[in-house]
Amino acid sequence: MKSHKLIATILTVGMTIAAYGQVNFDDYFMPRTMRLDYYHAGDATHEHFFVDEVIEEPYWAGNKSYLVDERNMGNHQFRVVDKASGKVIYARGYNTLFNEWQCTPEAKVTAKAMPEGVVFPYPKNDVVVEFYTRENATGKMHKRFAYEIDVDSYCIRKARPTLSAMDIHYTGNPANRVDVVIIPEGYTEAEKDKFMEAAKAFAEDILYYAPYAEYRDRFNFRAVWAPSEESGVSIPGENLWRSTTLDAHYYTFDSERYQMFEDYQRVLDIAANVPYEIIYVLTNSQKYGGGGIFNFYGISAANIPGAATRKTYSHEFGHLFAGLADEYVGGTEMSDLYFANVEPWEPNITTLTNLETKAWHELLPKKFEEKDIDHKGWELNPQNPKTPDYNEKRPWPVGVYEGGGYLQRGVYRPWPNCMMNWFHRIDVYCPVCQEAIRETIRLYVGDKNDTN
Ligand SMILES: [Zn+2]
Repeated sequence: MKSHKLIATILTVGMTIAAYGQVNFDDYFMPRTMRLDYYHAGDATHEHFFVDEVIEEPYWAGNKSYLVDERNMGNHQFRVVDKASGKVIYARGYNTLFNEWQCTPEAKVTAKAMPEGVVFPYPKNDVVVEFYTRENATGKMHKRFAYEIDVDSYCIRKARPTLSAMDIHYTGNPANRVDVVIIPEGYTEAEKDKFMEAAKAFAEDILYYAPYAEYRDRFNFRAVWAPSEESGVSIPGENLWRSTTLDAHYYTFDSERYQMFEDYQRVLDIAANVPYEIIYVLTNSQKYGGGGIFNFYGISAANIPGAATRKTYSHEFGHLFAGLADEYVGGTEMSDLYFANVEPWEPNITTLTNLETKAWHELLPKKFEEKDIDHKGWELNPQNPKTPDYNEKRPWPVGVYEGGGYLQRGVYRPWPNCMMNWFHRIDVYCPVCQEAIRETIRLYVGDKNDTN
């Protein structure tokens, strides 16, 4: 624990709040969506943004008092700046598949581009959208790109709903709800009923575990019907290719269970048919796999029998919605993600560089000391046959268990196991993940007493 770093962090956070603050929605925005599409390109060490187009979409589902996110989360951030005043009027952190790809061996030998986009409420006056990327080795954000938008330009494409949509679980005003849009992948025209059943099960499965269950009446789930030409999902490792709406496939970055798609703009087009904040894609597959990327999209196979489907949904939703890190060890080829002297921004892993700044620190049962670290924590590794059965001693005290963020050493997690770890052996999020999810829900719903 290095207390001088704690002081530095508090000062930085204080300055951030003073510099941004929240703005009044009606002063700056109209209740529609502006979307800025771009191509995210580069290799392991270079990054470029190329503008594609600006689109006006009909709905805005976001809370009107949660405009500038001050939590310093995400490997990327975008900020919408009012051109006339220079004031930041909207900001979000997010992750991207492109950024993950930059950590793969392939990125060391080639360059690549992926289509992406960001959405924000429609500004009344001209804005500049700024893009920032976090440097993993220092944890610092660097401005990479800025694009000025004339809000009255006739070049802004006007998108209108073209696909049919269904309420799956509707509880009220989108401005005070977490609005989840469920999108099908690999369901043909004839499989609409099958998708609808899967979408209903998905909503119930997300609302099954604490703390989501406590906020049942603060979630809206809607489904958009976007059928695929062929049934099922592509599996490159088995030479199985299918023509589907999003071109999702397993074996992303050479990892069999990593079922993802690269064209984020295509899923944004589909999502825009309803008011939404969170995008989850259900794939017509019985093969285990999926992924969730913070404030980007979540995806997983819908047809796996038993509890594995519900747990997979919940795990990926934890990444997507609350920016939770994987608490497990191994399981990925990606390197250069976490550095020993940089505190990860994710709420549920630490390098002990700045644990004091996390909500986790408040949940520790007593004043934390070096001797309290569980250095055997890394042994709870799904690939390790000698894994101790920690389940016997539940509930565990919140602690600091070594092993997390794919690394055996130097990264620590709050509980021996958690829904964000080896979830086949557990059915609950650790208290630190629960608190992070609650905090996120509160941001999306605003005043809980406003029940309209
Ligand atoms: Zn956890």
